[in-house]
Amino acid sequence: MLSESQLNLLKNNSSEALAQNFQRLEDIAKLSSAAALNDDELLAFLTACNTLYRNGEPLISDAQYDSIFLSELAKRRPDHPYLHAVEPEQAFTGKTITLPQRMLSTEKAYSQNAVEKWLDNVEKAAVALDINPEHLIFRATPKLDGFAAYDDGKILYTRGDGRKGTDISRVFDRGLIVGGSGKRGLGAGEIVVTQSYFNQHLADTFENARNFQASIIKEKTLDEHALQAINNHAAVFFPFSELPDWQGTGKEIRANFDNIVSQMHTKVDYDIDGIILEATDPAVKDYLGATRHHHRWQIAYKQNAETAQVKVVRVTPQTSRSGRVNPVAELEPTKLSGATISRATAHHYSMVKEQGIGPGTLIELTRSGLVIPKIERVINPQTPQIPDICPSCGTSLVWDSDYLYCLNNTHCPAQIKHSIEHFFRTLANNDGFGTKTIEKLHANGINSVFAIYQLTLEQIIDIGLRSQDGKNLLAKNLLKELERSRSEVIEDWRFLGAFGIYRMGLGNCERLLQHHKLLTIFDLSVEDIILIEGFADKTAQAVVKALTLIKNDFMNIHGLGFNLIETPLLGEKQTATSPIAGLTIVFTGAMQHGKRDDMIKEAKRLGANVGSSVTGKTDMLVTGSDVGATKLNDAKKFNVKIVDEADYLSLIGDSRN
Ligand SMILES: [Zn+2]
Repeated sequence: MLSESQLNLLKNNSSEALAQNFQRLEDIAKLSSAAALNDDELLAFLTACNTLYRNGEPLISDAQYDSIFLSELAKRRPDHPYLHAVEPEQAFTGKTITLPQRMLSTEKAYSQNAVEKWLDNVEKAAVALDINPEHLIFRATPKLDGFAAYDDGKILYTRGDGRKGTDISRVFDRGLIVGGSGKRGLGAGEIVVTQSYFNQHLADTFENARNFQASIIKEKTLDEHALQAINNHAAVFFPFSELPDWQGTGKEIRANFDNIVSQMHTKVDYDIDGIILEATDPAVKDYLGATRHHHRWQIAYKQNAETAQVKVVRVTPQTSRSGRVNPVAELEPTKLSGATISRATAHHYSMVKEQGIGPGTLIELTRSGLVIPKIERVINPQTPQIPDICPSCGTSLVWDSDYLYCLNNTHCPAQIKHSIEHFFRTLANNDGFGTKTIEKLHANGINSVFAIYQLTLEQIIDIGLRSQDGKNLLAKNLLKELERSRSEVIEDWRFLGAFGIYRMGLGNCERLLQHHKLLTIFDLSVEDIILIEGFADKTAQAVVKALTLIKNDFMNIHGLGFNLIETPLLGEKQTATSPIAGLTIVFTGAMQHGKRDDMIKEAKRLGANVGSSVTGKTDMLVTGSDVGATKLNDAKKFNVKIVDEADYLSLIGDSRN
């Protein structure tokens, strides 16, 4: 049940329909999988949870939020802005002001393996800078689970959206002190309360520590217990730079990982939800830089991942919509982080083969941010179990790099059924076309989306999709749902995504339609598509090929008449006003601003053509550090303008976002 204050928070802070549908919110909060929610509902739920969390009234636990809902969004739409924005924070009353420094989120890792990958990256950066990676010093600190704020010595800011926060200096006027050395102006930190004090003195008044933290920030008069906690210095603002830490090399972290992690848990008497690891060398930090979301030189390790050793019963092949055959390891049922796990995914059959996954294999399983766990490590390999033929149609399978494929795209029942299911599920404006119905239709020779839309009531009844009552409600309902799927509005990118085109997830569909109108995409060339951010050469080639293959089918279904909302074209204005629009640019050397790939995409987005070598057609050569002589000589030969990275960035400055 939502509490009264939760109800009020939602009423006051959101106009979203879902945020006002309290029964539905409660129902969703109880789900153990978010697979059944459509994208909009999933996003609305995440947003509502976030509003409640930021106000100290969480609806679900952090682990549920991460592992059930956020991970689902990441799975479906890895590029969704929600995932890459710093989570918005409910503004407290006070002046909104630009933060002296951007406050980013922290990238999270759920396994030692992931932390080691990050260490590898940092060490690679050191090598690129001629720094001996063995001498790099890393710092580990507890990851405080409090209320993030920034202290510039005069003002205390909330994190807000990472760029602009709210002035909450009033908490210092209320007597809150700075933890550690007590000095002001030490930058980012968290408002926290000691666990022992909270349990002893505050637990009766406040539901949880977050609830308490929010209460001391709010403008309204302080609760007397809260005031006392401040006066007793149990609640403080703790700057990150003042945290007790562990320092050492990457080698030591790899060797003593568990030990370092458990040390962190005893360093402070505040709630912590993991540990932070960061590089300390300023040159390395500079080199690695940041994404819009997080610093690349820092990572948070969250330990909510529990591991277990489990025996594999067998490896079952499953043919997907694309014909890729995926290995699913059926396991002896095992309890892990409160859930019973009976299957796990091996990444691909190459892994099954190389690591010896078959009946009797002992594996290590980690349940982390993912709903279906992945096989983390093979402890005791056995003979791998690898299929020769497609489990659905019997066609001989072929290897393509690490994967096994059934190439019988037109007649493989599994591929057809999954494609139909994918179509109706992606439209997300209809019900009734689940696995069972589609099985039944397929068994009766109805094996395309188009054929389903041609069905008459009599045919559906003949197929046996009738209910016991003899009123044929089920059949009538299916027809009604087909009708609804065409009359209810849907975004055109979602409609396109429903066709399950190779490499065209919803994110890519939306991006494509932001640049080209739906019915023109079949005429696009590889070159046209490469110009769009997010499409590399190979993807563009695959997309053009796949579009040709589905064109007929697409036109037939589109011709049935769907109620599509056109994606607004973007970039027209941006491209026209960009100072590099129409220029051919070549990048060379190591860039400081970010990865070269990202800079290339940005340039394309701003309307430039990007070449790989300097020719007579090149307009500009952008140079990073360690530039090779060839390109510079060519640039001089062809009289190409040479611009260094900083000048280039200031040139495009206003066009960036
Ligand atoms: Zn097959």
